[in-house]
Amino acid sequence: MPKTLKGKISLVYIGLVCLTALVSIVSIVNLLILQRSVSGLISENYDSISAMNSAANALEQQNVSILQYLELDDTDALSRYHAAEQTVGQAIWKEKSNITEPGEKALSAKLEKDFQAWSGNFFIFQNIRDTKGAAESAAYYQNELQPLSAEIQQTISRIVTINQNAMLQKKSATAAHTRDSLVLVVILSVLTISGGFILSRWLLGRFLSPLQLLTATIRKVRAGELNAQVDIRTGDEMESLAHEFNGMVGRLSAFEESTMGTLMEEKNRSVSIVKSIPDPLLVLDRDFKIVMANSACELFFGFNETTMQGRHFLEAIRDGDLFDFILQSLATKDAVNQKVWAFTREKEYYFNLVLTHGQGEGPAAQECVLLMQNVTSFKELELTKTNFFATVSHEFKTPLTSILMGASMLEGGHLGMLSKEQKKLVDTIVEDGERLSGFVNELLEVSRLESGKAIYTFEPCSISAIAEESIRQFTETALRENVTLINDVEEDLPLTLADYERITWVLNNLINNALKYTKSGDFITVDAKVKGNRMEVSVKDTGDGIPPEYIDRIFDKFVQVKGHEIESRGTGLGLAVAKEIVTAHQGDIRVESELDAGSTFYFTLPLAGRNTGEAN
Ligand code: ADP
Repeated sequence: MPKTLKGKISLVYIGLVCLTALVSIVSIVNLLILQRSVSGLISENYDSISAMNSAANALEQQNVSILQYLELDDTDALSRYHAAEQTVGQAIWKEKSNITEPGEKALSAKLEKDFQAWSGNFFIFQNIRDTKGAAESAAYYQNELQPLSAEIQQTISRIVTINQNAMLQKKSATAAHTRDSLVLVVILSVLTISGGFILSRWLLGRFLSPLQLLTATIRKVRAGELNAQVDIRTGDEMESLAHEFNGMVGRLSAFEESTMGTLMEEKNRSVSIVKSIPDPLLVLDRDFKIVMANSACELFFGFNETTMQGRHFLEAIRDGDLFDFILQSLATKDAVNQKVWAFTREKEYYFNLVLTHGQGEGPAAQECVLLMQNVTSFKELELTKTNFFATVSHEFKTPLTSILMGASMLEGGHLGMLSKEQKKLVDTIVEDGERLSGFVNELLEVSRLESGKAIYTFEPCSISAIAEESIRQFTETALRENVTLINDVEEDLPLTLADYERITWVLNNLINNALKYTKSGDFITVDAKVKGNRMEVSVKDTGDGIPPEYIDRIFDKFVQVKGHEIESRGTGLGLAVAKEIVTAHQGDIRVESELDAGSTFYFTLPLAGRNTGEAN
């Protein structure tokens, strides 16, 4: 067996060529045999028959010449006799040298012998004619020559018959041979074609079966079976290919093992980082089943991650509010959602909930991560601060009232006339005292609002009435400062559902701020418009404007724009209080501002008698 695949395929090819050659050789041999028998049939027997026919004709000519010589004494007849005699002799010689059939030789010898006797008798006939006369010679011709001529004709006829029969036999033998050859060639062709087909299929199948084995193994490897190996021992190129393939798969497997190892290491590191986060962290799948929970989560909510894995979130943490937050956050398209959530165990805990949607593709994309940042200590600190402010403010309020009252009495001259210097001093006491009182009031308001102790009285209010009252309070100041205060609020606007006192306070604060941060010649415009199911109130000024970096922080407590000339006159609490009040009305407050061009503050309020939950 050849050692190479090429050699093996060549072997199949050579086998097929050999079979074809065999069929060709058999066909050629048969054709040659056929050709020989046909040519033998034509030449040998035909030559004998032809020679005998010419002999029979010439003998007949001799008889005619003898009769002419006898009857007419025609001497030319003798020369015709001899010419014919020569023809007969040549024909007999031809026949003698062309003996092909059994019995033909004896007949040929007899023919030669009889013809020699015929020629001898003709000499005798001539002698009798010359010596004894015509009558005697005619009798001799009749008794001797004619019977011999008939005998010769009969022998000739027998030789012709033998050859004709032989021709007929050869013809039928040739036909039979042709038929046999045809059958042989057909059988051989069928055998060669089917044998060649079976042989080539079998051999090619045998040579190519390793290829099928290799293909099947490649499929296994593709399906992830990296320890799959192929065992081919054909000693040819297929074996080397299998060897190389096994090596490649081995390396692939080793590579995967090392990659898996690295990945596992990375995963373990990530898991231990997540586990060590001090705030509770949960990973949930799309069906709210727990995928992972860190140690802080286990510790705080008192469950075991291993037993809770794959269980529903509510089985681990039975809190409807928290679950609602998860549901609502997942319903939004925002990547991150936040909310402060209170949870009571032995005491009240506060968490800043951060829910992050899964990223990328695959199962992780369907998951969400819930981080519960424990902000209890900040909350407690804030509470302490609020309480402190409330206490301090409260403690300030009574003595301040007494101071202001005393100073007002002094200022009013109720306790005697004051000198110019004394009056100036008392005026300063009153002015600063009032400012301090305003600050204390704002502090108290903030504390009240933040502690949730503030009580709101929501009722249908006319925003044009509120605007009118606020503007009236500041008309004098505006005039004094040469600022034009415009009321653009239409009178027939729908009513809002609001706490009259507090919204008046908000508007006052906004107009007061606008006056603080405008100069002589500036404008302040108060306006209100219905937007969807809300009323949007705006206070626009053409004053200093707010630097962009402050826009987001301006509503936080104690935030004041640095560099404002008027900075020291404010408390930084007004907008924080306004925001608390507007938020309590389920509205929102915002500002649009451009430095040195002015600011516009907007806040919204619900309309009376409408569903405030509707979208704008
Ligand atoms: P304050 O008592 O200082 O006015 P607010 O909370 O009312 O406290 O305002 C916070 C800060 O916002 C102010 O100190 C001021 O710097 C800025 N601000 C508020 N309103 C305006 C305005 N209309 N134009 C420019 N700056 C303003």
